[in-house]
Amino acid sequence: MKKSLTTLTAVLALAWTSHSQAAEPIWDGNKVEMVSEQLAPGAYAYYPQDAKDLNAKGAAAATSGGLIVGSKGALLIETMLNKRLHQQVMALNKKNQAKTITYAINTSAHGDHSYGNMYLPANTRIIQHANTRNYVSAHLEDDKAFMLKHFGNGRGIEEIQARTGDILVPAGGSVTVDLGGRSVDIIDFGFAQTGGDLFVWDPAAKVMWAGNAIIASKPALPWLLDGHLTQTLDTLNKVYAFLPADARIVPGHGVPMDREALKWHLDYLSAVKQNVQAAIDKGMTLEQTVKAVAMPEFGGYSLFGWVHPGLNVPAAYKDLSKAR
Ligand SMILES: [Zn+2]
Repeated sequence: MKKSLTTLTAVLALAWTSHSQAAEPIWDGNKVEMVSEQLAPGAYAYYPQDAKDLNAKGAAAATSGGLIVGSKGALLIETMLNKRLHQQVMALNKKNQAKTITYAINTSAHGDHSYGNMYLPANTRIIQHANTRNYVSAHLEDDKAFMLKHFGNGRGIEEIQARTGDILVPAGGSVTVDLGGRSVDIIDFGFAQTGGDLFVWDPAAKVMWAGNAIIASKPALPWLLDGHLTQTLDTLNKVYAFLPADARIVPGHGVPMDREALKWHLDYLSAVKQNVQAAIDKGMTLEQTVKAVAMPEFGGYSLFGWVHPGLNVPAAYKDLSKAR
């Protein structure tokens, strides 16, 4: 995890400098305005009001999440970066008739998905992957320092204290919660970005919340922050096979998309795998491979210039060299 933070720091430092002269964060936790979209009775996607525009332009949007309401209780998905955004989603919960938030889930340890845990009522039970709890327990201070550097001072990150999971999903496992007339599955499909990645599946609504494993629809691309191209591709293939044809996906940083939109991410990762393998077979070094595997056909994503050559191709090179 330490290594992934270093990589993420390098990557975001680039984004930070290229993004702004005035040291503006990629998105500003003091300015984002969350909205709610009902996807089915009792199933809501929460996302920033500018997410649709930003997604279409291939630009970076703030965190998405949502809410599932049953007759006995409700499940909040993602607790957000800071108190301000947390309070916005809690206000949306009220509007959506959730009397109590029985459960809240973090799809990963990333602060924009989990820092808001500390503001939940004491009786809300938090669901996390076991690896996420271990990471937060050991590294919250490093994580906050990193988040402050890239999301800015005065955005409520300074006051964050750890509040970790009460219900833990073990590696490769799943947990089902009963909200009253409605069961929701929380599933670890395998390594998807952090090694503590959870997917929320609401069978009644046919909606999946994916977290950062699926950032947003085309032209956004996966970020292999902690490497593992082959495992990530296998995991996303499993997710695609699991979903019914008419399922919808709420991604980690965007508006809802349909199942077929996941193909874009699978096609990209498959192409990276194939092209990097061909480069390795020709005996190319990492530097030569990065040059050779340019893949401009996937270049519409605003972060492509460093996600692809800086993260994903090196991750593939490392993975596939090992496998020989
Ligand atoms: Zn995120």
